[in-house]
Amino acid sequence: MIDKARSTAKANGVSWRPLPFLVGCDILAFDGKDILEFFGANLKPRENGEKACAELVALSKAFAQARPDILVMVIVGKPQLDESSGLLGRTLPPCGRCRGNMKYGYNLPPGTLIVLAPLEENGVREYLTLQDIWDKKGDKE
Ligand SMILES: [Zn+2]
Repeated sequence: MIDKARSTAKANGVSWRPLPFLVGCDILAFDGKDILEFFGANLKPRENGEKACAELVALSKAFAQARPDILVMVIVGKPQLDESSGLLGRTLPPCGRCRGNMKYGYNLPPGTLIVLAPLEENGVREYLTLQDIWDKKGDKE
């Protein structure tokens, strides 16, 4: 899944930055009958324009026709400063807007497994729950 998320980021990510900031997401979901897989890449063609995060692109595909159970979400990208919390981690977690959407929009269970991995081969991987990420970033209820 990590390799697929990387391929998605590199093939489909769009970044305004001279050194492109690419993010990929791979989701495994269960719809009651089958395991389904959904992909997303980030889209931010202009510095001050709207952005579409890889996580929300993949989630919107997953929830387009049904409300599946999200089994695992893999997110790959370079670590950057979290705008909401001001924290810089060793991996790239979902941004504040994504975290809010995951919790209040898509109502993902707090125990949902989130795997954070680097865009390139070498680097730290983290295996966290959505609750771990909320706790780390100090998101308020
Ligand atoms: Zn985001």
